[in-house]
Amino acid sequence: MKVAFIGLGDIGGLMASHLARDPFDLVVWNRTASKAEEFARNHKVRVAATPADATRDADVVITCLPSSVEVEAVLHGENGLLEALRKGTVLIDCTSGDPPTSRSIAAELGGRGVEFIDAPVSGGTTAAKSGTLTVMWGGEITVFERIRPVIEAFGKKIVHAGAVGAGDAVKAVNNALLAVHILATAEGLAVLVKAGVDPKVALDVINASSGRSNSSENLIPQRVITRAFPRTFRLALLEKDIGIAAVMAEDLNARTPLLSLTAERFHEAREKLGEQADHVEAVKMVEEENGVVIK
Ligand code: NDP
Repeated sequence: MKVAFIGLGDIGGLMASHLARDPFDLVVWNRTASKAEEFARNHKVRVAATPADATRDADVVITCLPSSVEVEAVLHGENGLLEALRKGTVLIDCTSGDPPTSRSIAAELGGRGVEFIDAPVSGGTTAAKSGTLTVMWGGEITVFERIRPVIEAFGKKIVHAGAVGAGDAVKAVNNALLAVHILATAEGLAVLVKAGVDPKVALDVINASSGRSNSSENLIPQRVITRAFPRTFRLALLEKDIGIAAVMAEDLNARTPLLSLTAERFHEAREKLGEQADHVEAVKMVEEENGVVIK
């Protein structure tokens, strides 16, 4: 199966590495060519000069870009995917994208006999490395069955969320919850530090109690208490995901004040901490506002 992978970022590069083997014939393209060249050296695959060049012979094209805006750009731009996508090809968008854009891309491609599936992932770089990502996809089951081996190469829990756009919708809400948990846990611990409680002791209790979450069990102990703050998932991307959830809520007339507030707070954090900050660094904003360090 000829696979083209577009976007070798923090997670895309790790996902693509699982496709650099039989039965796949992989070609990669990345905006910054040096990253694609390094990937090609390490994995003995071909680098394409442009997205169109990568796509020309592909049975499956995978995009993994920051947002649907970049997916549209790579699709419609000069030497873009659209110039080379052939009838029968499947475009799998693993970007955490937005549902309306995915639906409009699917409609446009459908008119040319090209199938589209939105298939965002979760589990972070650790699961991407081990090929055990959760994949939530939207689209037709018959199309998915044709490309199942590709998704199984990097995914472990693979869930059909519904029609095109449903994968994006679930992903946005999942990440909005991640953002809520990070901020809520940081605020709770900041109060406890002010009250003179050791945050490690507090986490020991919380993680054996009902206040626990992935943030309290993993992110804060491993990244905040240690002050390691590794950069694995940019805060800017998480802000984008909460934004997608907030717009979805608005479009559906849902009342979600907590999600709106979290979107605002992550917007503030992005402005303060910049484009390259990791999502867990949002805790630093809470620490600074409260004059405490959670360690
Ligand atoms: P990164 O920011 O690390 O990488 C983004 C990729 O997109 C890079 O290859 C970058 O190229 C490319 N790119 C950016 N802008 C453009 C553009 N205008 N045209 C063409 N290519 C472009 O992102 P991640 O790999 O972390 O994330 C990718 C997607 O996966 C996002 O939607 C994210 O929300 C999602 N995701 C990420 C997770 C993570 O843990 N990192 C976890 C789950 C989902 P260049 O190298 O030139 O900058």
